[in-house]
Amino acid sequence: MLWSLCLLWAAGALAAPLNRARPKLLLISFDGFRWDYDRDVDTPNLDQMARDGVKAQYVTPPYITITSPAHFTLLTGRYVENHGVIHNMWFNTTSGQKKPYYQTLHEEEWWDNGTLPIWITAQRQGLKAGSLHFPGTAARYQGEVPLKQEQEPPLHNYKNETIWREKTDKVMGWFRDEDLDFVSLYFGEPDSTGHLYGPDSPQRREMVEQVDRAVGYIRQSADRHGLTHLLNIIITADHGMSTVHRKGTVEEITLSKIPGFSFKDVSFHLVDYGPSGMLLPKPGKLETVYNALKGAHPHLHVYKKEEMPERLRFSKNPRILPIVLYADPGYLINGYFPVQINKGEHGFDNQEMDMKPFFRAVGPVFHKNLEVGPFETVNIYPLMCHILGIRPEVNDGHLNATKHMLVSSTGKTTNYRHNAVVGLSAVAGFLLVVFVVLIAQRIFRKKDDSKMLKSSKDFSEPEKQSRL
Ligand SMILES: [Zn+2]
Repeated sequence: MLWSLCLLWAAGALAAPLNRARPKLLLISFDGFRWDYDRDVDTPNLDQMARDGVKAQYVTPPYITITSPAHFTLLTGRYVENHGVIHNMWFNTTSGQKKPYYQTLHEEEWWDNGTLPIWITAQRQGLKAGSLHFPGTAARYQGEVPLKQEQEPPLHNYKNETIWREKTDKVMGWFRDEDLDFVSLYFGEPDSTGHLYGPDSPQRREMVEQVDRAVGYIRQSADRHGLTHLLNIIITADHGMSTVHRKGTVEEITLSKIPGFSFKDVSFHLVDYGPSGMLLPKPGKLETVYNALKGAHPHLHVYKKEEMPERLRFSKNPRILPIVLYADPGYLINGYFPVQINKGEHGFDNQEMDMKPFFRAVGPVFHKNLEVGPFETVNIYPLMCHILGIRPEVNDGHLNATKHMLVSSTGKTTNYRHNAVVGLSAVAGFLLVVFVVLIAQRIFRKKDDSKMLKSSKDFSEPEKQSRL
């Protein structure tokens, strides 16, 4: 009986700090969901989520405002120059080789270049992490991967709503059945539709309605899996979208047409990729290339790498090429001739309102019906680490920028390692007390027995036996 009580108490002491409101966290990205996409579309589920949680006016992504760099900032809290995933395309300036977005997702050295995503940090501190289709998922980091990981297959249908539901249920299954603590989940829309038809198109509005249905489904699925009281959900995006000015309405930017500029002076270039570009001039040609391009078009910005505006945080990385170009909203940078057909684009200056994503959060750690001002997406990483109770890696974000969203910024979240130590210490201390009590009891019993034996020589044998 005593041992049963001891075990119960020990189990309780161990379990209490570990299970006490142990929060789970789901980070969701809807690629290219601009901050104001809910303004011209009926979005009952996003509206309900805002009433049940937190809505930011908008958030500011890092520059360069394209998919892989901005998603790696969400996972690491670092600006692009610091995390090193500086483009959607892997490239080698010596061989001239370039790999497109999907191939680059599988190019491990492009991702694993010194900065750890939150999955690995969480797992090193005793938590379980997973990732479904989130950019960066396919790589190993210092040899480690999330416990559950799935990268999207080639030619993945980004807009299939049935697949969205299957992805959602799979992730909720990971939380419930595998007891994962953190999962990142990616949807490739409304980016694709925004590119194809433009952000002001009816097709984009229909896709936002689909995203809204998905948000409703995600919350229902969490409920069906019995997770609502544990699961915190952050929904955001990597960048926004801006309408491209078409030929005939504006003077396009085509580098080969700029007087004094020649691709013969350049040994490697990365252009024809939306509104941004990078050039590696041949030896001795830096000034020639720079002087030809600088001021050549009123909507083209040309910088030597080291002279990039500090606020863009896109300079201090060896992967960034010596000349960096970017265009004003509506303009694209073409190489030899215009080849880009998208009606919507991103990649512009992160100060432009068209580049700002949305941000919503709901769950037990978040305030309800709270609208907060804008903040940079580097600050989402320290917020996530705080919710999960893990020590963040070195990052460029600040918890102060986001902690006002939390019900309590102190004591609400739990450091599980610390609690495990405290819990185990409590158990060890308790067992020591039990041990001392039992020894003492045994000693007293022996004394009692010897007294009894001395004073009850007349007692019957069975009774004596029963006392031993
Ligand atoms: Zn994107």
